Amino acid sequence: MNNFIDGHTILIGLMAYPIRHSMSPTMHNAAFQKLNLNFVYLAFDVDAPQLADGVKAIRTLEMRGSNVSMPNKQKIIQYLDKLDITSELNQAVNTVVNDNGVLTGYTTDGVGFINDLKKKGHSVKDQTVLVTGAGGAGTPIAIQSALEGAKEILIFNQHDEHWDNAQRNAEVINQKTASKAKVFDLSDTDAFKTALQTCDIYCDATGVGMGKLADMSLVEDPSWFKPDMVVFDTVYAPRTTKLMQVAQQAGVKFVYNGLGMMVEQGAAAFKLWTGQDMPIEFVKQQLL
Ligand code: NAD
Repeated sequence: MNNFIDGHTILIGLMAYPIRHSMSPTMHNAAFQKLNLNFVYLAFDVDAPQLADGVKAIRTLEMRGSNVSMPNKQKIIQYLDKLDITSELNQAVNTVVNDNGVLTGYTTDGVGFINDLKKKGHSVKDQTVLVTGAGGAGTPIAIQSALEGAKEILIFNQHDEHWDNAQRNAEVINQKTASKAKVFDLSDTDAFKTALQTCDIYCDATGVGMGKLADMSLVEDPSWFKPDMVVFDTVYAPRTTKLMQVAQQAGVKFVYNGLGMMVEQGAAAFKLWTGQDMPIEFVKQQLL
């Protein structure tokens, strides 16, 4: 196992603020060492005012790239040379790849969701996908599901600062993909209940169920679920959220947290930087 740094070590960054809590450095460095790749991944506190300098550093230090997270996901677009289709449609970037000074932005969160579902035996193709939330996670999940051939995307959001983004996401899906998207107000309980009964896959991307909202769930009544659906919570701390408990009480067969998605979005970035497949099972063991 390569556990040294030398004059040839290539740097990959993570630029966000606050960011010191992130599991990404542990995940990527474990994978580099396992595969004997001479890379190192470091987190940097880069807030919006420092972002231009941060991107300049990617070029100056000949870094292979960087992840970015809030508050930089949209702001970074102006400093990049190119966007791939996922970032173009999401109007957000979480991964930057530096090809000899040409910086391309990608969004791997949606791919992470899809790949995690695939590994668990589920496809979104021709399915109805219900997504609550239209922020940093809900947007790529809805858009990537549409790009992967979902029949219908039902987006539920509360009337807050993300409402316009929910509308934008539906417009993008309807204009740029073969999928059909509709937006509903989350306070429309009847519509939400009906959508849960008709969808194949429900993904909660609101963050309800973690932190101060740890004992809350958008669905409190198990009878709103049906056993043959998929219930997916993007939250991974705690590993079993209140929503997942309600789904389990309802006898739902396929109930997942966001840990697999988190590793898969990292694996997609890892592949872009190194050309290699992340040793996913090994990495998951390091994160437990
Ligand atoms: P965000 O702030 O960008 O968006 C939050 C969304 O949830 C918005 O649409 C907002 O309207 C909605 N929302 C917020 N509070 C709500 C409430 N009380 N009731 C109903 N809706 C509410 O956040 P984000 O970056 O999209 O993150 C959302 C969650 O997804 C977080 O828990 C985050 O940890 C998780 N996440 C997981 C992964 C992963 O790989 N598993 C990746 C990204 C984010």
